[in-house]
Amino acid sequence: MSSLIEHLDAKLRAIAAQDLTRSLRAAEGPTGPRQRVRGADGLARELLMFCSNDYLGLAAHPRLAHALAEGAAAYGGGSGASHLISGHSVAHERLEDTLAAWYAPHIPRARALSFSTGYMANLAVLGALGDAEAEIFSEALNHASLIDGCRLAKAKLSRYGHCDLVQLRGLLQASQARIKLIVTDAVFSMDGDIAPLPELLALAEEFDAWLIVDDAHGFGVLGAKGRGALELFDLKSERLVLIGTLGKAAGLSGAFVVAEATITDYLVQAARSYIFTTASLPAVAHALLTSLELIENELGQQRRARLRALQRRLRTGIAALLQRRPELGWKLAPSETPVQPLIIGGNAEVMRLAAALEQEGLRVPGIRPPTVPKGEARLRITLCATHEDADVDRLLAVLERAVS
Ligand code: PMP
Repeated sequence: MSSLIEHLDAKLRAIAAQDLTRSLRAAEGPTGPRQRVRGADGLARELLMFCSNDYLGLAAHPRLAHALAEGAAAYGGGSGASHLISGHSVAHERLEDTLAAWYAPHIPRARALSFSTGYMANLAVLGALGDAEAEIFSEALNHASLIDGCRLAKAKLSRYGHCDLVQLRGLLQASQARIKLIVTDAVFSMDGDIAPLPELLALAEEFDAWLIVDDAHGFGVLGAKGRGALELFDLKSERLVLIGTLGKAAGLSGAFVVAEATITDYLVQAARSYIFTTASLPAVAHALLTSLELIENELGQQRRARLRALQRRLRTGIAALLQRRPELGWKLAPSETPVQPLIIGGNAEVMRLAAALEQEGLRVPGIRPPTVPKGEARLRITLCATHEDADVDRLLAVLERAVS
């Protein structure tokens, strides 16, 4: 065997020894609360899913399938090149204009730029804005793509503790950098809590800094019209740089950055993950316009209300279970979003529990270090507006059975 294979094989065994092996599972059919998923034996069985980020249940909405087909008929398949070469279509332009208009009340002179994924948008923003004259102040629980963006940046990097405004203030006060960039998730992806954005923006204003907000999990879900965290808090400032993903509540794929026009102009010139990659399918950009319409209209409003009702039902049920069984030592994270983590503790314990749930036909992923801190392995329960009350009740009943 070659030395590389031996080397990797040893690493895989070490991962397995810590109960940290991750495995791929292929689903059949459309995304939704009930999906046919193939097991290790290759056979598919229907599972009740509590793991998708398709929060509004739009991925399987017939209007999106129709819009995709319409887009494919109008624009064909792939974009054929990067945006700056020949991949930029009028569909991308319309999507960007619509998003810029969405955020005009929040960011003066807002312009939007579309990306193929949120990961690439985060690399673009941090890689391009975080030059050698900058200092990045990065929240401790930021998503991996923001962390990788920080790694790519030439800027000095300072980390502040989770929602620790006092520590952040101290770091900003001590900073000598000409450009200061505060970067945070709006909704923390493994905890479900919401960043104190008004306070962070106030600090940005006070210290001549900029606030970069990754609203991957808030877009479509928060705010009366689903415009996310900026709408929820009614934030207004040219110091805001918003990144949103379109593969979660929007039900398709892609991402966007909205910021003051000079910032987006600069990203087009300098962001490597924008310049050196093929533009997303124009048909997807076209269908995303339908997504945006669904998010802000009555259907979106109804689904957001439904999500909140499901969140309440789940939290009430789990709180009652924890009250009956305090010896379990589990903790329900304080979340007001569809991301509802149940903190279990050990890696093996959480994986045993996830396996027991799956045995009963429920898929709830166990999340382990390094994605979350050691000793805080958890079930990351995510809710979709298309879950029924009975689905939540079944999860509660199966959890109860798994520990009795
Ligand atoms: N930011 C956050 C907070 C995320 O949770 C994710 C996806 N898990 C991303 C960015 C990346 O977005 P995408 O999946 O569109 O690459």
